[in-house]
Amino acid sequence: LPNHIEPVSYIAVDIGGSLAKVVYFTRTRDAPSTPPSTNGLVNGFHEPSDAVKLDATPSKHRINGALTPSSLDSPPIPNFAHRDFADELIRRAAMNNLPGGSLNFERFQTEDIEECVDFIHTLIAQSAAANGVSIAEMRKSVEIMATGGGAHKFYDLFTQRLEVEVHREDEMECLIKGLRFITLIPSETFWYSDELVQSVTRQTIEMERPSPDPPQYQVSFDTNPTPQLPCLLVNIGSGVSVVKVEADGTYERVSGTSLGGGTLWGLLSLLTPATTFDEMLALSEKGDNSAVDMLVGDIYGQDYGRFGLKSTTIASSFGKVFQKGEKKKGWRPEDIARSLLYAISNNIGQIAYMNAEKYNLERIYFGGCFIRGHAATIATLSYAIRYWSKGSKRALFLRHEGFLGAIGAWIKNME
Ligand code: ADP
Repeated sequence: LPNHIEPVSYIAVDIGGSLAKVVYFTRTRDAPSTPPSTNGLVNGFHEPSDAVKLDATPSKHRINGALTPSSLDSPPIPNFAHRDFADELIRRAAMNNLPGGSLNFERFQTEDIEECVDFIHTLIAQSAAANGVSIAEMRKSVEIMATGGGAHKFYDLFTQRLEVEVHREDEMECLIKGLRFITLIPSETFWYSDELVQSVTRQTIEMERPSPDPPQYQVSFDTNPTPQLPCLLVNIGSGVSVVKVEADGTYERVSGTSLGGGTLWGLLSLLTPATTFDEMLALSEKGDNSAVDMLVGDIYGQDYGRFGLKSTTIASSFGKVFQKGEKKKGWRPEDIARSLLYAISNNIGQIAYMNAEKYNLERIYFGGCFIRGHAATIATLSYAIRYWSKGSKRALFLRHEGFLGAIGAWIKNME
């Protein structure tokens, strides 16, 4: 349950097939002073409830990660359409009497949507108490912006249980709004840099096929972000959407695949004893995919040098499982989890690359809760993009990757 007592009147919810994401704003009187923590990423995970500090005061100084007009001024921003967008947001925040504060993030399983409703109810009740007004009075000033399929499916539940106004917003529109906003927050965007491959010649890169153990890369953060359009957004939720975003912010859903986060979650629920997604990720950390995947070495007994295929390259995901000799030994859930994580991530990486190539886009943002700041997932996607594009395209990740739609819906609150 929420444990703060600051007034909350701006609440957004993005209810997808698997997870319901909640974003809400809490006001703080003082300017934000702590930059977003990046420690969690060292271990491969970050806390979903990390708050993003916003400072809507028209200050000329950037205070430790707060988003202010001055942080958007330098370095020079090539496309003014974007700066207008950011300035407009800040102007609206100021107009809506948001003197500065934090965006807060929570996640629930859509299956347990009642918990999400209870959480929002508690937020409203605590706000009422903090403001010294009745809950009925508080309800009148609260609006919920809802997006995702569940905004329609659970509309009656939300309006009847919470007795507040609920606005339904288009999912794709919110996703892109959220992307454009969050990518302007310092240290939000990160990537696995090429540092480890820099000393290697281009020819060597060409020889390296996506392998079961992608090399480890340095993590770099965009500390002084500028608008980064055009780009491709690959949102990996239950399913996958590939969206092309133009320089002027217009967008089109150009591709997708049903083999997404829901597939990993579903198949691992069938195939391993793990009951939560985190347990499945933890299993994959300890796994060795070569126990179930058929590798080039299993077929050739060595590398397939002519086409640069190393003996450790996956020739067929789960391709070993049918073999009678292997069946007797049985398979470890850890190995199954790692193999499936690689299979899904490599497949999405390749679809992302092909679309980026088709539309001539260099920047590929990956969003959606599937990623969860998980190092093996990020490394696999980064490696696939780097490998297939011969280093010309970059996979970009976001600290709040699963909340783009909810953030976009929250922004709609101010329109
Ligand atoms: P959707 O909007 O379709 O629900 P999300 O972006 O919320 O999509 O991503 C859902 C996916 O995120 C799941 O299918 C699963 O792969 C992954 N995931 C991450 N964290 C969790 C979690 N705690 N519980 C369940 N799935 C999770």
